[in-house]
Amino acid sequence: MKAIVVHGPKDLRIEERPVEAPGAGEVRLRLAAGGVCGSDLHYYNHGGFGAVRLREPMILGHEVSAHVEALGPDVEGLELGQLVAVSPSRPCRTCHYCQEGLHNQCLNMRFYGSAMPFPHIQGAFREVLVAAAIQCVPADGLTPGEAAMAEPLAVTLHATRRAGEMLGKRVLVTGCGPIGVLAILCARRAGAAEIVATDLSDFTLSLARKAGADRTINMGSEPDALTPFAAGKGTFDVLYECSGAAPALGAGIAALRPRAVIVQLGLGGDMAVPMMAITAKELDLRGSFRFHEEFATGVGLMQKGLVDVTPLITHTLPLSEAVAAFELASDRSQAMKAQIAFA
Ligand SMILES: [Zn+2]
Ligand SMILES: [Zn+2]
Repeated sequence: MKAIVVHGPKDLRIEERPVEAPGAGEVRLRLAAGGVCGSDLHYYNHGGFGAVRLREPMILGHEVSAHVEALGPDVEGLELGQLVAVSPSRPCRTCHYCQEGLHNQCLNMRFYGSAMPFPHIQGAFREVLVAAAIQCVPADGLTPGEAAMAEPLAVTLHATRRAGEMLGKRVLVTGCGPIGVLAILCARRAGAAEIVATDLSDFTLSLARKAGADRTINMGSEPDALTPFAAGKGTFDVLYECSGAAPALGAGIAALRPRAVIVQLGLGGDMAVPMMAITAKELDLRGSFRFHEEFATGVGLMQKGLVDVTPLITHTLPLSEAVAAFELASDRSQAMKAQIAFA
């Protein structure tokens, strides 16, 4: 069985790994599609991000769909051959945060493809994956590519929940990679009245418009385009900050009206924050990190046709071209979500 293993910056290898047998409550899955995520790219391009560094070879990947190949003992509700979206969120379900229902804050989280703990948590980019049945959400009716979008969609559904009331709100989205564009889809589905999106890439902004942004702004070529929105103490009720870049956060905050909500999704390391404006305009600054129950919610929304993620999937490459897929995914002038087809 082949797996995609990162050894260090720009050192990605396809390696053989043994196939495991499913234990009680587990299933053996044959991988279908895997999306390359920003965090995978950090490991591939830089060997990590912030204080999180690769200290041993790690299988990458956490955005995957698969077909059920074998059921371990005591598994119900899944069928052989069925397409499932596989949640990479593996909380312990026993620590005090899990018991409070804050699974994304689990003290013993084993999220796929993460170098935060050591030994690292190995990822899901492998031809055969043994997973807990409760991680698997049936994805009948979806394509493998759509089902593999359940993870980033869950991230933005969780952020939308963190944002609070959305109906009739004016929304600003800064940073239009996959998370920003999915945030647009979620805000729209939740009833936003107007959505403005910013980025530095005309290509990603074209997909933001397709996803329903009413207006897009290239902050490189129109650096002052948000200024009119800052008049009269600001315009927007909600900011999804998806870039992790301090200039985007600063420009966004200037365009927010008093008592607006900032949802910080972008992970750019520690950022300078204009605290005076947050205080004086009484802004709510809210972090948003991963997800839990939103994973199944997202699969359901896609199955009902209420959220269409297909325009985001710009590239699909076979496993043998994994390195090319990672290079493409790094190029924001032509790629949104690059996926690897495992079968
Ligand atoms: Zn991801
Ligand atoms: Zn826990």
